[in-house]
Amino acid sequence: MSEIQGNGMRPGRPRAIVVGSGAGGAAAARELQGPYQVTVLEAGREFRRLGLSTRWLERLRNWRLLVDERIISLAFPAMRIRRSREGLVHVNGLGTGGTTTLSAGNALRMDGPLRELGIDLDREFEELAREVPISAGHGGGWSAETRRLFELCRESGLAPRPAPKMVDLDRCRRCGRCVLGCPHGAKWDSRRFLDDARAGGARLVTGCRVRKVVIRAGRAVGVRARIGARTVFIPADLVVLSAGGLGTPPILERSGIRCEPRLFVDPVLCVAAPWPGSRQHRELPMAFVVQRPGYIISPYFDYLSFLFNRRWRRPADRILTLMIKLADSERGRARGRGGRLDKTLTVEDRRRLAEAEALCRNLLVRLGARPEDIFVGTLNAGHPGGMLPLTEADASTLHPDRLPANLYVADATLLPRSQGNPPILTILALARRVARVAAAAAGAGRAAPRPAA
Ligand SMILES: Cc1cc2nc3c(=O)[nH]c(=O)nc-3n(C[C@H](O)[C@H](O)[C@H](O)COP(=O)(O)OP(=O)(O)OC[C@H]3O[C@@H](n4cnc5c(N)ncnc54)[C@H](O)[C@@H]3O)c2cc1C
Ligand code: SF4
Repeated sequence: MSEIQGNGMRPGRPRAIVVGSGAGGAAAARELQGPYQVTVLEAGREFRRLGLSTRWLERLRNWRLLVDERIISLAFPAMRIRRSREGLVHVNGLGTGGTTTLSAGNALRMDGPLRELGIDLDREFEELAREVPISAGHGGGWSAETRRLFELCRESGLAPRPAPKMVDLDRCRRCGRCVLGCPHGAKWDSRRFLDDARAGGARLVTGCRVRKVVIRAGRAVGVRARIGARTVFIPADLVVLSAGGLGTPPILERSGIRCEPRLFVDPVLCVAAPWPGSRQHRELPMAFVVQRPGYIISPYFDYLSFLFNRRWRRPADRILTLMIKLADSERGRARGRGGRLDKTLTVEDRRRLAEAEALCRNLLVRLGARPEDIFVGTLNAGHPGGMLPLTEADASTLHPDRLPANLYVADATLLPRSQGNPPILTILALARRVARVAAAAAGAGRAAPRPAA
């Protein structure tokens, strides 16, 4: 095994490794670069959006070439799809920007469960509001169907509201391809924070899959990782794990640190009707949200079902969809070995999903769809987290006791429970605070002395 020492780094500064460059990793790297010499280790490559047009995708589908969701990564390596043992499809980003590059651009503050623990992130949210372009003023670009759905929800007392978007609306062309990577540089994703960290001197190593944290005498001394066929050891004074809700727990467990079988994923189910002339695939996705106890509903063109679900083999401009995003029970795990995921929906999860589906069917019928024509999509999920949940005892340190003093987690793994709502903004705020706490703890003399090279 070879050792990477960080060529070109300024000597003398403590070294921090940040694993992953998604929401949590980019926010932590940007904060730590300065007090630390940061190296970001990213399993994937530089992000590339999916270039194929919707017409071409439709052709490939009609030629029956798209047989399984997992093959999407052949054309679009930044999207990784896995199936849990129970058949639930999990979607994640792999590459710079992590899953934020695939986001629908929603920017909701969802820190209720953290606040209940005594964690106040007001300062971080205020800073983010100045740094990330967030606006809900996109109503002028909505399709006629979206406007009618919005009105219908309002008349039904569902209190819909335009979704705040981390999108530069002047540059947005309403092309509807947010989840395939924005072609116009309008959507904010965490590569912007990664670029800031790099401009400050941070180093990025792509194609570097971290296997475990190396812990000696109760302290993290670095990480073991695979770069191509090579296994390398990369030393560090501080290690921050931000490999996401499915990536961080296996690294912890390989390092001998137990996680909790409390995986949540925010399952998504789309309910659709045939709708000639629909323009939903050509507008900002999730233009508005209805927030109900335990789930949200929102208009959304579901590419995953459109491409891979037999019931959806119809032209894109003939489908009108409402998405349900559920707050699921914390039950499941991402395993280190074999990569299998366990995620079960409980009876209560299924009950709430059925309630939400009935509401969506009702709305589509009131809009003019025939009940017998309505069809549902593939049950999938893309907001994993919760396997090392923060507790009241961690409120000031943001550092669960079982971690060595100089090992931190800064991603969705720390979130205490599912909210069935978009989490990026909350993860950015939390990761920034974790990085601040880590740097302050090290400044107070708790960082490991640099091991001899
Ligand atoms: C289709 C889709 C749309 C979404 N839309 C929204 C939205 O509109 N708004 C919102 O708030 N949320 C949205 N989300 C969810 C959001 O993107 C994620 O919850 C968020 O990005 C999670 O942040 P994270 O830091 O925990 O992990 P990620 O952003 O997933 O980052 C993890 C990073 O770690 C890397 N990695 C993994 N394993 C390793 C390893 N072993 N070694 C090195 N690197 C590793 C990955 O490549 C990745 O870069 C969406 C998700 C999906 C799938
Ligand atoms: S709708 Fe198109 S241009 Fe606008 S943010 Fe999404 S991908 Fe970018």
